Amino acid sequence: MSISPNPPPPSDRSYYAAVNPAPPPRPALDGAQRADVAIVGAGLTGLSAALRLAEQGVSVRVLEQARVGWGASGRNGGQVHTGQRRDQDELERTVGKADARKLWDMAEDAKALLRSLMQSHQIDCAYEPGLIHADHKQSFVEENRAYAEKLARDYDYGLVAPLDRDELRALVKTDQYFGGTIDRGAGHLDPLALTYGLARAAEAAGAVIHEGARVRRLRHGARPVLETDGGALSADTVLICTDGLLEGVEPTVERHVMPIANHIATTAPLGDRLQEVLTSRAAVSDSRFVVYYFRPTPDGRLLFGGGETYSTKLPRDVSPLVRRHLANVFPQFADIPFEHAWGGILGVTQTRQPFVRAVRPNVLTAAGYSGQGVLLAPMFGTILAEAVKGRLDRFDLLAKLPVPAFPGGTWLRKPILVAAMSYFALRDRL
Ligand SMILES: Cc1cc2nc3c(=O)[nH]c(=O)nc-3n(C[C@H](O)[C@H](O)[C@H](O)COP(=O)(O)OP(=O)(O)OC[C@H]3O[C@@H](n4cnc5c(N)ncnc54)[C@H](O)[C@@H]3O)c2cc1C
Repeated sequence: MSISPNPPPPSDRSYYAAVNPAPPPRPALDGAQRADVAIVGAGLTGLSAALRLAEQGVSVRVLEQARVGWGASGRNGGQVHTGQRRDQDELERTVGKADARKLWDMAEDAKALLRSLMQSHQIDCAYEPGLIHADHKQSFVEENRAYAEKLARDYDYGLVAPLDRDELRALVKTDQYFGGTIDRGAGHLDPLALTYGLARAAEAAGAVIHEGARVRRLRHGARPVLETDGGALSADTVLICTDGLLEGVEPTVERHVMPIANHIATTAPLGDRLQEVLTSRAAVSDSRFVVYYFRPTPDGRLLFGGGETYSTKLPRDVSPLVRRHLANVFPQFADIPFEHAWGGILGVTQTRQPFVRAVRPNVLTAAGYSGQGVLLAPMFGTILAEAVKGRLDRFDLLAKLPVPAFPGGTWLRKPILVAAMSYFALRDRL
């Protein structure tokens, strides 16, 4: 099959936005309103919290500054990883074996939650199993293999199989990688379809979602109040579910969760030409600190992501940036036309552990997934809802994870992060 010689110009409109028709706009917040629980942010975290609370008869309103799924949830790589963001070795060192086991179980529960959300609310988000971890350094191959053995031995997780260099090359047509593993319990999906599905389910359960409702100010108190341009919402509890996108509203969250930008492009449907780069339906994520991730879409495109920038202003056209990284991995596709190229902002923390805290007794947050929210955000939203209803075991476990504030306060934290990330990006290339 040949690729159209005149593809439409790359735009900021994501592939997901092109294949998922947007629902009609929801009304902004108007005047003074009340709810039991007010949620800031209509991504996977906020919407799953809203769904779980509304199902229990709690009155919930969600305030979204743009549209449902406008944040990272509607524009990410769609990769559903296994486990928490930090691996079990690191968790055992940080919180001890018993809590590390609970965190592992929580992440496996997150997979079960995802399956049950898709089934019970008929959310068709094109889930496909299989995630390859590709090692870009020889020294990582043994580590990766030993980790797979550890998961089987200590965590009864036998779904990760090693791939030697030739086996990996048969699946991923590049000589960039020295080996890796394939995880049959992980996979990939269309994250915007999942986010739209969760919004529909939350509304069907009774939650109210406002779009174009940017929270400008949070007034703390016995009943905190969220102020937008057109209204004010008071609630018993506020949930801040804004990942890396909060600005000027809650300094504690903003000091701990830093926004960074990441970029993705998709080709046109490639037909048989997709086999020139990927011969299986599995997604791929590599061992770089600034990770490359890619996968086939249901309609046979290559979706390729990679390349971080440390500004909240996305370049007007991100395709040259993505192309540079894609050409590193797949020189045979260096000139492949893109149909869509877009960027998004995600929240990272200093330790890459999520920031789950009660910033006040009645203001809770879960943010800073550091690039692993597709699996975890729906679960952490559920855990926020549990905390609101007085069940605190899983919330407290997450709140114990060490997540210091970024040094340097509001002004200096960005240059310090940029210096740190540039160092790790340099190490990727050595
Ligand atoms: C390009 C990219 C690729 C990624 N790839 C992957 C991947 O493959 N796998 C993976 O697991 N994770 C990935 N991630 C990370 C993942 O998308 C996030 O961890 C996850 O979506 C976070 O969900 P959330 O609901 O917490 O935040 P978001 O989806 O970002 O939602 C937060 C919402 O809050 C709203 N908001 C912010 N401030 C305000 C305000 N003041 N008032 C009202 N609303 C406000 C925003 O508009 C936004 O819609 C990626 C992220 C990006 C950007």
